[in-house]
This record gives sequence, C-alpha cells and structure tokens, in this order.
Amino acid sequence: MLSKRMNDLKPYKPGEQPSDRIYVKLNANENPYPPSPECAVRVKRLLADDLRKMALYPDPDATALRKEIAAHLNETGGVLANDDAGKKLGFKISPDMIFCGNGSDEVLSFLFYAFFDSDKPVVVPEFSYSFYPVYAGYYDIPLTKVPLSSDFSIDADAMVAAAHDSSGLIFANPNAPTGIALSCEAVRKMLLTFPKDKVFVVDEAYADFGSESVLPLLLDFPNLVVVRTFSKSLAFAGMRMGYIVASPELRNAVTTVKNSFNHFPADNICQEAAKAAVSDIAYYRSITKQIVKDRDSFRKTLIDAGYEVLPSATNFVFVRHKSLSGKQVYELVKKEGILIRHFDIPGVEDFVRITIGTAEQMKQLAAVMKNL
Ligand SMILES: *Cc1c(COP(=O)(O)O)cnc(C)c1O
Repeated sequence: MLSKRMNDLKPYKPGEQPSDRIYVKLNANENPYPPSPECAVRVKRLLADDLRKMALYPDPDATALRKEIAAHLNETGGVLANDDAGKKLGFKISPDMIFCGNGSDEVLSFLFYAFFDSDKPVVVPEFSYSFYPVYAGYYDIPLTKVPLSSDFSIDADAMVAAAHDSSGLIFANPNAPTGIALSCEAVRKMLLTFPKDKVFVVDEAYADFGSESVLPLLLDFPNLVVVRTFSKSLAFAGMRMGYIVASPELRNAVTTVKNSFNHFPADNICQEAAKAAVSDIAYYRSITKQIVKDRDSFRKTLIDAGYEVLPSATNFVFVRHKSLSGKQVYELVKKEGILIRHFDIPGVEDFVRITIGTAEQMKQLAAVMKNL
C-alpha cells in the first residue's frame, strides 16, 4: 500500500529520551536554562485577557514577532555572546527580510522546496546537519557532498568549486556536529566567486555562542539566506520557532511555499512567548556567556585529560578519546547516568558530541570522563 518513496525513508533519530532512570541530558544541544521569565508572564497575561486566543487562528505572517526579531538582530548583530556584534551589522534588518516558521527544520524544508531543483545537485559538506540530506531526498534533489578539510573545518574553496554546476549550496556555520566556525570574511570570499543566480544558505543555529554571524553580508549579497533558530540559544526547543533573514524577494518566495502548503505558522502562544524572548537581551546574554565560559573550561579539562577536542563556537563540543571508540565512551558515560550523543557514521564514529549543560553538570561529566 505504500509509495516507492516510503521504502527509502530513514526517520531522523533525535537524541534519545529514555525513561528507565533520570539522566543528565547532554545529547540534544538543548539549553540547560529556562527561557526568559518574561515569556511566562506574557503567555499568562495573553490567556488571562482572552482565552479565545486559543480559538482564533494566529497571524499567518507573524507580523508583530518579525518586528521584534528585527530589533533583536539589529541590537545583537546575531551574536548574543558578543556585546558589540550589533555595531558591526552596517545596515538595518527590516521585518520584511524575516520569515518565521515552526522551528528551523520546517523553514529548511521550505528553503529546499523554494530554491533547489532536482536536475542539479545541492552542495553540502560531507559532515553537517543531518536534515539536509533528508530534505534533499524528500524533494528528489541530488546531493554533492564535499569532504571536510583534515582539521574538520569546512573546505570553503572546494564547496564553491562544486557549486558551479549545482542548484545551490547549504551548510551550518558554526558547523554541526564539529562545532567549528568559518569567519564572516571566509564566507564573504566564498560568496564573491559563488554564482550570483543561485542561493547560498548559511544555517546559523549556533551563531549566538560566539562565532561571527554572516548577517552583515546580506547588504552586498542578495542571494544569501541566513537561517536561525530559537531552539538553542533562546532555550525554545520545546516551543518550535525558527526563521530566515534574506532579501525581501527571497523571503517572499519562502512565504509563497508556506502559503501553498500550510498557511499558518507558529500558534498564538508561541508567537507571544517568542516576542518576549527576543526582547530580553540582557537575560539571554548572561546565560549565553555562562554557557560559553563553561564550554571553554570543560574543553580545557578534557584536553588536559588526553582527549582530542575540536575547537567549538557552539553550545557543544565534539570529542575523541585516544583509544576508546565513540560508542564505548557513550556507553560508559551512560552507565553513570549521563546521556551524550554518538553518531554511527563512518568518518566521525570515533567522536562523541557533548552538549554544554550547567557548570555542575559539566563537573559531573568531567569527573566520569577523566577516568575512562
Ligand atoms: C538544532 C538545529 C536545527 C533545528 O532547529 P529547530 O529550530 O529546533 O528545528 C537546524 N540546524 C542546525 C544546524 C541545528 O543544529
């Protein structure tokens, strides 16, 4: 009874959520802190004032939220961990450059539909976010996978070289699961030789944790699309809110895709909470800086204990033990009540990916890992 397409589907395995005991959960790059307290205040007020907000359809264009997101980006420059990133933007992001969806996974699906064709491949790094190949398969778009450099960074030159005969390009910056970031200047150099008639997508799911955002490049490159999510730095993974920043023309194309499939974006409660979140920059700066500090000291602790730890500009680290396999490290750590992530993918199977939790959680994990 199933379509041929169904036979090839391999459902994404999210970070496990076992219930046999209570685990310290460092396997899904979730934020260890709650969202801004203002989110709860605003949601309570919204429903107390008018419970029919649940009965009425939300604003399909998320108009008020897009205004708040634009203000947030203009102030932060897209990097919460860096106090003066906003000064570097060089222009004002306007709400008509922003499109909101139910988490950036949905947004990514719309982008693949809007910009990539099945007669030419889309270029991706060999190791990057695991949903890119999924959406390519879903829409029958072939893939060109470009190997990473020997230090696990994205090979910018090889990516652009592969893009000349493609329908576009996408990568995460900082990349996942490596955690390594390209500088804004390195991405600018890529765009200079990248075909002007194809779309160049940068997924900035982790940019708030101290890398450089490529948002300033939107001024000179109208074929650039930047994808962002509330899930990681804004502690919103359970609420589902993601967005793009792009030229109004590309932004409108994505809106057309959405309006052709499912007119309504995030619900009224999510939109209200999201507005409160982006407005509380002081709170998010403080938790982001805490995560960055704990990441850097955890990384140093593991290096001192003999691990290889890739440089990280994210809220996770990608780590290799000198003799144990990634699977062994994962299992030994799980026995101690801590969940981390292992990818059984040739080329990175020796590594584990560890989300940065609270300082206390990292101390607990470091104590376990030092003895492996
Ligand atoms: C987590 C993540 C996403 C998905 O985020 P959601 O908004 O929760 O769907 C997208 N891209 C990358 C690289 C991620 O790590």
